[in-house]
Amino acid sequence: MPGFELIGKEEHEELNDLMTNSGILFRHGFDALRNNIYKVKEFENNFAEFMQVKNALAVTSGTSALHVALKAFGIGAGDEVITQAFTFVATVEAIVESGAKPVICDIDETLNLDSSYLDKYVNTNTKAIIVVHMLGTPCNMNGVLKFAKKHNLKVIEDTAWGCGGKFNEQYLGTLGDAGTYSFDFAKTITTGEGGMVIIKDELAFERAKAYHDHGHENNPSLPRWEDSRSSSGFNYRMSELQGAIGIAQLKKLNFIVDSQRSNASKIKNILIQKKYKIRDVPEHSFETCDAVVFFAENKQKAISIRNKLLKCNISTKILPEAMSWHFAESWDHIDELKNDSKMPNLEISRNILERAVALPVFVKMKDDYFNSLKSVL
Ligand SMILES: *Cc1c(COP(=O)(O)O)cnc(C)c1O
Repeated sequence: MPGFELIGKEEHEELNDLMTNSGILFRHGFDALRNNIYKVKEFENNFAEFMQVKNALAVTSGTSALHVALKAFGIGAGDEVITQAFTFVATVEAIVESGAKPVICDIDETLNLDSSYLDKYVNTNTKAIIVVHMLGTPCNMNGVLKFAKKHNLKVIEDTAWGCGGKFNEQYLGTLGDAGTYSFDFAKTITTGEGGMVIIKDELAFERAKAYHDHGHENNPSLPRWEDSRSSSGFNYRMSELQGAIGIAQLKKLNFIVDSQRSNASKIKNILIQKKYKIRDVPEHSFETCDAVVFFAENKQKAISIRNKLLKCNISTKILPEAMSWHFAESWDHIDELKNDSKMPNLEISRNILERAVALPVFVKMKDDYFNSLKSVL
């Protein structure tokens, strides 16, 4: 959860450096006025180095990161994109905005996409799969990558909660063709609002860069006002203010993930003692542990556990109380889902999600918390 818990003097110093020594808040140009300070560029370079990839592109949000990735692969009207039933509504919004049709796949008790169901959803229009590492537990990528290869589909990892997590020793967001990250205020690291896209294919990465900047190709031999362009775009540029904060937050990512993992393991131990079944974790996962999810016997029990926890000032997160924003079956406000005559029945996912309770994990958690949790459960 907690980039926001650690906003402090390092972020302040980065902002001071920007305001005192540059004052240029736009990522491009003004070269003579900015003392060689390019915060967004520096954040992108540091992020790519951290994730052990060549390129990263900063954008305005995790939602725009998904939109940019879809555009970079040329996905649009007439295409279909498969994603999972349990995700934040943003994943489906990005597919809808791209013009493609969202197709919803059931999850299993990892709470992420179950690749054994993919066969049911694929057809000649299918172009991509967006997996989501929901709440920081990796999606089991082995089956997804194999399936995608067989059917020639792009794999985009929505890594909004998985920044700093790994699967098979590789950072989440770097296993598929593209990875997208969110730095909104509730995510593992934050720039207030913001996001990042990693794309492996260099041509697609160039398209992403242009798309997020009105089609600008940033041709080094031309001034920006005469810049070359070969496709339409939009404006998803990150500002230097966000870039400055991102530089400081990224330096805290390892500490955040380590702290969350350590607190999550204390919570898991209590749940095991109390004989609760915990969410499945795929083998070879390194979780960011944004939340610990466990299962009650049924929906009513899940709600009554939440009520008991709340009385002792222990909050839950998303499950069970905010399922309507995170479960595709609830989204009858999205015409593209509501009017889809082939919208699958998501009973499998519903039966899993409505029994689930999620406890948010923070960097700073006191012994009091663990003691109360033990006594309430
Ligand atoms: C937060 C989130 C997003 C969107 O990120 P924003 O930066 O808030 O736009 C996308 N997908 C998932 C799974 C998320 O949790």
